[in-house]
Parts: sequence; C-alpha cells; structure tokens
Amino acid sequence: MTSPLAQGSTIGILGGGQLGRMLSMAAARLGLKTHIYEQSAQCPAADVAHRVTSAAYDDEAALRAFGRDVDVITYEFENIPTYALDILQDLAPIRPARNALAVSQDRLTEKQFLTDLGLRCAPYHAVGTFDDLLQAIDKVGLPAILKTTRMGYDGKGQMRIANIQDAQEAYDAMQGSMAVFEGFIDFSHEVSVIAARGADGAISAYDPGENLHKNGILHQTTVPARLSANQRTDAVLLAAKILNALEYVGVMGVELFVTPAGFIVNEIAPRVHNSGHWTQNGCATDQFEQHIRAVAGWPLGDGQRYADVVMENLIGNDMDKVPQLTSQPNTALHLYGKPEARAGRKMGHVNVMTTPKA
Ligand code: ATP
Ligand code: MG
Repeated sequence: MTSPLAQGSTIGILGGGQLGRMLSMAAARLGLKTHIYEQSAQCPAADVAHRVTSAAYDDEAALRAFGRDVDVITYEFENIPTYALDILQDLAPIRPARNALAVSQDRLTEKQFLTDLGLRCAPYHAVGTFDDLLQAIDKVGLPAILKTTRMGYDGKGQMRIANIQDAQEAYDAMQGSMAVFEGFIDFSHEVSVIAARGADGAISAYDPGENLHKNGILHQTTVPARLSANQRTDAVLLAAKILNALEYVGVMGVELFVTPAGFIVNEIAPRVHNSGHWTQNGCATDQFEQHIRAVAGWPLGDGQRYADVVMENLIGNDMDKVPQLTSQPNTALHLYGKPEARAGRKMGHVNVMTTPKA
C-alpha cells in the first residue's frame, strides 16, 4: 500500500489534450500540481497545469527531467511509445501500470486478454496478409469491420466490409499494418462502464452510460442507460473483473455492446474516457478526480450518480451553438480552449441535467 501524496505533490501526465486538462483541474482542486508532457508546442492542458514540457517521446533528456520532477506518472492516452516508458519507469511509479498499456495498445492482445478472463468479444481473426483476410471472411463471415491493431481512435483506422468486393479496398486501407477482422455485432445499443480501482484495491464504478456515435465519433452519452437492474450489475461486475485482473490503479473505460445474448466487450481504455464526462455534473466525485485520487494513493471518492445527465460533444462547428448554450438552463458548458474549430475535432462538451425537478 502506497502512502497518499501530500499537498503540493506533482502528478506527471503524459499527453496534454482535453483529458489532461480536466485531470489537471481536478488535481488542483485537491491541492495537487500537474506537470504535462506533450509533443505539440500548444495544448489544452497547458493553460491549467503547473508545468509543461514540450518535447518528443524519444527525447531522453526531456523524459528524464520530467520523471525526476514528478511524484507519480499517469497518462491521458494509451499509445505511449515503449522507449519513453522504459526511461520513465525507473524515475517514478507509473499508474495505471504498464500491463494495462500493453493490453490496450494492441487490439489482438486486448481480445486475447478479455477472452482469457471469460468475457465475450466480437468473433475475430488476425489479418497480416490478403490471404489472412480471405480466411477471416471464411471463418468469421460478413458483414465485418477491419481495424488496425494499433493506434486507432475515434473510428480512425477502420473499414467496414459488407461484401467480398469490399475486401481489397479495406485491405489496402490498412497500408500494411497488422489488423484485426471483427464480425459485425448486431447490438441494440452501446453502453460503457467507467470504473476506478484505488491503490488499496477498492473499486468504485459509475452508473453505466448509453453511448451514441456519429461518423465513428462519440456524439452523446445518456445516464441512466437503458439497462435492467440485472444488466447494470452485470456490467459493473464485468468491469471490476478486468480491473482486478490487471491490479489496476486509476480510472478505466469499458465499452460494451448490448445484445439479446448478453454483453460483448468492444474495447477497454486505460484512462478517463469521453463517455465519463457526464460525471462532472452528475456525481460528487467525477471521473477526473477519481483518477487523480487513485494514482495519488488517496481513498476513492463518492461516485454515486445524483442526477440524470445527457452529455453531448461539441465537435468542429458545433462551436457555433456556444452563444446559445451559455444561457440554457440546467446546462454545464465545458470548453477545451482549442483555438481552431476544425472538422472532427473535439472542442468541448455540454452536460445537460435532465432530472425532473421535485
Ligand atoms: P473510440 O476512440 O471512439 O473508442 P475506436 O477508433 O477505438 O473508437 P471502436 O471503439 O473499436 O473504435 O469502434 C468505434 C465504433 O464503431 C463502436 O463504438 C461501434 O459503434 C462501432 N463498432 C466497432 N466495432 C464493431 C463491431 N464489431 N460490430 C459493430 N459495430 C462496431
Ligand atoms: Mg471505442
């Protein structure tokens, strides 16, 4: 058991996007500082962090200086190069630990891990060559989705295959990367469980949210999700099983497909998750504070939901709606301070409390 970080301690965060920004704000509320490590010169987290290092993930001197400056290291994205982790691991504890990164950086490793735990994934087949793809079509069937095993996010690096004519185009789109062929799941809806495990092994899971995607990007999360009491318990137990198996410390997002035959795990994210943003206005302790508490060795906070919430992402020119949203009742606006509203870029989100007034 680690002793809790004292007031004024510094949490190092790899990645300075909106997640790093909101983690920094939560850390500040608890009297803790953050030091952001980010490749780009400007980033959303820089405005609110105590310190920022702008350097590449192969800059040994910068990594060492960062590692020496912080008391613990965490991250806002899972694709951290191994080289950086090899250097950092001797300088400060990394939480969640590297096993969680290893499992979630590669979709094949992830599926193997989940299957070994007794959880269900979409039927899948590894694809390295065009011949593998033909075998996968034969074995798993169509329709299907071909995904690069590494580096995919927001639906990038994915191609749907409806019929055999699509196969060549999908294969070419992978550009020689290792890929995983997944059978298309006919789900009724998608939900996610955001759960935390503390350094003491305690687990706290948020009420599952129901997720709606548009163009492969999360558009909306609604709590409560359309789930029975039994399903809700099953979803939380399933997430807890994953956290315990990894001896995980921090917040994790577990994406699930709901089918008549039960839950199918889509993927896990070893970090705070876009579908957990509703917790900022629906719980006493939101996912960002919960993650900071966990990695700082503090006890987990109260994650019980006290409001019904609909979270909507503001993507690209959704920013045009902001003037109107500023005066909307029961609405909390969260903007990331990104200067340019490019198409497909997550600029902010809005949490609308929909609980009927008593
Ligand atoms: P994100 O970063 O938003 O989590 P991602 O790029 O990691 O996205 P996935 O989560 O694998 O991609 O897939 C994105 C979405 O595509 C899913 O939420 C789901 O709507 C759809 N999808 C993915 N795999 C399948 C599948 N096997 N069957 C049906 N739909 C799928
Ligand atoms: Mg996903």
